[in-house]
Amino acid sequence: MSKPVDRLQSRIVAIANQKGGVGKTTTAVNLAAALAERNRATLILDIDPQGNASTGLGIAPSDRKHTTYDVLNGDTPLSEAVVQSSVEGLSILPSTTDLSSADIDFGTRKDRLVLLKQAIDRDPKWRDKHDVILIDCPPSLNMLTLNAMVAAHSVLVPLQSEFFALEGLSQLMLTVREIRASANPTLRIEGVVLTMFDGRNRLAQQVESDARDTLGDLVFDTVIPRNVRLSEAPSFSLPVLQYDPQSKGSESYRALAAELVKRHTEHLNAEKTPA
Ligand code: ADP
Ligand code: MG
Repeated sequence: MSKPVDRLQSRIVAIANQKGGVGKTTTAVNLAAALAERNRATLILDIDPQGNASTGLGIAPSDRKHTTYDVLNGDTPLSEAVVQSSVEGLSILPSTTDLSSADIDFGTRKDRLVLLKQAIDRDPKWRDKHDVILIDCPPSLNMLTLNAMVAAHSVLVPLQSEFFALEGLSQLMLTVREIRASANPTLRIEGVVLTMFDGRNRLAQQVESDARDTLGDLVFDTVIPRNVRLSEAPSFSLPVLQYDPQSKGSESYRALAAELVKRHTEHLNAEKTPA
């Protein structure tokens, strides 16, 4: 597989929103598949005890020998727990429901917020083989999501195109600011992506214009449409790009991947250019 010139240098992106059902997992799986299609070595860290990303990529529970819990616990190196998916260039750290006790099990540890970061940094050579690492967060601003924000370079926020969508975003932004002020000073908001968008719906249009007015350039140009193929794909254990490559859902996640790569490249160039 030939390497693209604009390598992404193991960018770690947490996909977070404390609301459930807004498209975090769908975005993690399909954005990852679209990045892999562009020859980026992509890794998903499933840190949601529901394990939807793991299931959606066809990792049977019996194949989840080592899981996110074991990695956070320090029992298993990340490189040993990660499994290859059926998509070339896309691997995943699977999770299971045992992760739901992480808050209680690790809650009193002093290093409870850096467990994921430590696991990722333990083997830098292995980490750096990946161009992009996407973290699929649970629907809560709990210890697991905080671990993701401490480990990540940036946070990507899926926003469902419905009423109340913008509510809750301020709490999320506040949490990002707190993490920036403490454990991870360079954490950025990668962007906000509107999901499940129905262009015929006036309310959805209103949410989009409100989001663009309030958040400006933070909102990705790409909008993910409501597309039934996207919701069907996980039951076939496939990203939509494999399930129905020509669907609107596939096209939209390809466009999001292109936009993400472009943003990353611009950001890396800005970092290199002295002010
Ligand atoms: P989260 O991870 O934020 O809880 P999911 O990605 O699991 O959200 O999405 C919630 C539900 O909505 C799932 O059943 C998923 O298949 C469906 N879904 C997500 N995005 C879309 C979309 N763009 N079009 C249609 N269905 C979608
Ligand atoms: Mg999810």
